[in-house]
Amino acid sequence: MIDGYGREISYLRLSVTELCNLRCRYCMPEEGVCKKRHEEMLTQEEMLQAIRAAASLGIRKLRLTGGEPLVKSNIVSLCRGAAETPGIQEICLTTNGTLLPELALPLREAGVSRLNISLDTLDAEKYRYITRRGSLDEALRGIEAALDAGFEKIKINTVLIGGFNDDEIPQLAELTRRWPVDVRFIELMPMYDSGDFGPEAFIPYTVVTQRLPELEALPRDGSVARLYRLPGAVGRVGLISPVSAHFCKECNRIRITADGKVKPCLHSPDELSIKGLNEEEMRRVLCDAIRNKPQWHGELSYSQRSRAKRNMNQIGG
Ligand code: SAM
Repeated sequence: MIDGYGREISYLRLSVTELCNLRCRYCMPEEGVCKKRHEEMLTQEEMLQAIRAAASLGIRKLRLTGGEPLVKSNIVSLCRGAAETPGIQEICLTTNGTLLPELALPLREAGVSRLNISLDTLDAEKYRYITRRGSLDEALRGIEAALDAGFEKIKINTVLIGGFNDDEIPQLAELTRRWPVDVRFIELMPMYDSGDFGPEAFIPYTVVTQRLPELEALPRDGSVARLYRLPGAVGRVGLISPVSAHFCKECNRIRITADGKVKPCLHSPDELSIKGLNEEEMRRVLCDAIRNKPQWHGELSYSQRSRAKRNMNQIGG
């Protein structure tokens, strides 16, 4: 489907849960989420209906995210169902990786084609600090499990946080020599409640090329990242700039939250509910959302936070 600004919408991000086993400081509050009632959340069957409805409108790529999608007990069967949906060509999943040692192989066998794994630091103490509870060893074991399970084109997502991990840019980029992965540095977005961070925490993506002048530019590959390679590295470095150089013109995405709200734009307060609807009704709501997708996400800065009245774990990053 083409939206009101001529963009072809072919990518759905479906958040399968708001819950997470970590508490990343820029993403969600320490006490977790105020648990919604079971009846408020989309069931597995509703998620599959929504995926079918979206596929019938031209969605070809699906990303399952959260919260942490791997804490959801039925994640493997949900992935299998999604993979069987006619029209869906690619299933990706975004995870913190800590549960991949048990789940990487079952996910691959269920039809997941690609994984994005979040990793903001290579220092065990800093990892525990930023996630408020996680273990760096578990996250690294998760990346290795994903490689052992045969996933290709794994992306490691690092949120750039001034004063926290900007000193680690070289070490994180060096992972592309050790593993055939893309390490992608993503600008910190000022979400609803990411109040742990002041204006100094935002650093633009250009800091990465300043710190690593040896990076060689590569042609774009259709994703939103600017791509580079360290000389001789097997993997690539990607830079994603939602704040300093937004890519709304190229946005081909639509989102559905775990509580059944269609969001035409990550930072817009607009939400349309599909909870309790049948597939045809969901199709109509999705159509509406695509037609009314905003032109861009509006100014984002420390003083002008995202207008989405949700934290990232409640939208699905
Ligand atoms: N739990 C999974 C994970 O850790 O990847 C999936 C959900 S998480 C919300 C998805 C992605 O959103 C992660 O890569 C995370 O770093 C990113 N994210 C969350 N809050 C963000 C923020 N304020 N700015 C930029 N990225 C953010």
